[in-house]
Amino acid sequence: MAIRLLADDVVSQIAAGEVVERPASVVKELVENALDAQASRIEIRIEQAGRRLVEISDDGSGISQQELRLAVMRHATSKLESAEDLFHIVTLGFRGEALASIGSVARMTVTSRPSAAQVGASLRVEGGQVSALTETGVPTGTVVRVEDLFYNVPARLKFLKSDTTERQQIDQLATRYALAYPGVRFHLYQDGRSALRTSGNGDRREILANLYGVETARQMLEVTLEEDGFTVEGFVSPISLTRSNRREITFFVNGRWVQDGSLAAALLQAYRNFLMVGRFPLSVLFIRLDPEQVDVNVHPAKAEVRFRTPDRVFSLVQRAVRRGLLASSPVPQISPSGWTSQPGGWSHPQPSAGGGIDPAWQMSADLRTPEQASAMPGAVTGAQPAAVQPGLPSGQLPLLRLVGQIGNTYLVAEGPDGLYLIDQHAAHERVLFERFQRGGDQPVVSQALLEPAMIHLPSYQAAMLEAQLPLLVHLGFQIEPFGPETFRVHTIPVLLVGSDPLAAVRAVVEDFEEDETPLQAEVEARLAARICKRAAIKGGQSLSTEEQQALLRELEACQSPRTCPHGRPTMIHLSVDLLERQFGRRGSR
Ligand code: ADP
Ligand code: MG
Repeated sequence: MAIRLLADDVVSQIAAGEVVERPASVVKELVENALDAQASRIEIRIEQAGRRLVEISDDGSGISQQELRLAVMRHATSKLESAEDLFHIVTLGFRGEALASIGSVARMTVTSRPSAAQVGASLRVEGGQVSALTETGVPTGTVVRVEDLFYNVPARLKFLKSDTTERQQIDQLATRYALAYPGVRFHLYQDGRSALRTSGNGDRREILANLYGVETARQMLEVTLEEDGFTVEGFVSPISLTRSNRREITFFVNGRWVQDGSLAAALLQAYRNFLMVGRFPLSVLFIRLDPEQVDVNVHPAKAEVRFRTPDRVFSLVQRAVRRGLLASSPVPQISPSGWTSQPGGWSHPQPSAGGGIDPAWQMSADLRTPEQASAMPGAVTGAQPAAVQPGLPSGQLPLLRLVGQIGNTYLVAEGPDGLYLIDQHAAHERVLFERFQRGGDQPVVSQALLEPAMIHLPSYQAAMLEAQLPLLVHLGFQIEPFGPETFRVHTIPVLLVGSDPLAAVRAVVEDFEEDETPLQAEVEARLAARICKRAAIKGGQSLSTEEQQALLRELEACQSPRTCPHGRPTMIHLSVDLLERQFGRRGSR
């Protein structure tokens, strides 16, 4: 084939493909235009998941009659003058592509009136063909009506997902923008039904309920951190609230929704050792920085950005989130009300009037078996964080003096700030897990079995195991294929010595099955957690004083001694203050 220049309509369609991928991308571009026009009210009407209609009206600055034709042309924009401007962009748009792109793959009508004009004007673009302009009486602002999206690009239509999915995408997008701009009133209708309505009063938590539901929104923790010109604010989930994927991790940078793997990684770093492996937090974080510090001209859909000093931004995000978390996930404490309300026994956790349920506590209540849960004492204090010794790195333990073991399950210890009840199983899990992690790149110490053990697996599991053999070596398992669907186990991690090696291998293979995150580090952390759980001292197991001492010392040395690798608390703290009040030594009820 000879080389030729592509016809204009082909070029437009190729370009449009980058900007308009699905109905939600139309919504995104038009909402961004309304926000750039300083709208205080944005109304979105969707029919048939956006295939039939996407209509967005705003009360923003409007487009003058003389400029209307220009506005729908490619590379026509009022937001950028010179190439230099590209490096300090303060608007959401700047490429001048959205209206032209949408007009080339749909039937689009733009109607607009700036406040200074007496009448408005309307222009229709159908598959890139611009029709004559008509004058019309309309309120100030702009209405963009997009009908029959992709009517002339049937191939694109085929790539759309189900109506439910496309509708959800639009809901999610509108809600997130509403959150980012709480001072703007958003109203979204899907097939005539109101799907989102915000008041524009600036209250983000109210909007959060739209995104997550009331209960979840109530639990979200607030994050704010400001440091020479950079700010991070927003919401993150407490460690008790997680999802099995990263879809609820949202970042806005200078008011722009971005998808950025490294920002998400910074967030996950902050949760390190707090979350059950394979679980992910929810977040909506807003980052603000000097526009010159960020390059937004990376991608036609403007969903990616580059930071001039990425390390600073990531470290800021991580510290902001970590702070928010530590301020709110103390060791569960027993509140006096828990005691007094039920004389003669422990009561179940109850939301205390002011503070609400402590997140760490609530998690323990959720995850424990009913027997365990009912064995756990008392309601929890409100927002009061754990009494941490001054000068101690946050989250770490003070030196503890062993008192003894009770019920062959809990250790009792005394610290400078009161009494600690420690769940020996959870604590040992934590100790083993950190031992694994400290190994870093060193393979975990393994011990050879006297007699290699044979294991036979169903073929799909055999394939999974075979693929993961190198990783398992790293964790202390030496296993070799031995005939069809059969393996020979030579060594196991020293941690597991004494337990059934085949059961351990089976547990590990089951983990591969459950795993939905192909990231190696995560698979490994999850396996390590699983192995630690198996290897840890069980509840109901009597320990010698030396063993109890050793466990306490090792727990004190942990980075995150207060939770087990699965996120459950390892201990309950009864502060001196609480004891004194309960014994009437200090004025109180
Ligand atoms: P960009 O937003 O990158 O400038 P668009 O194609 O989205 O490109 O819009 C082209 C121009 O049309 C904008 O620069 C702006 O001047 C004008 N415009 C588009 N939508 C609106 C709106 N809702 N209100 C006011 N002006 C608008
Ligand atoms: Mg735009």
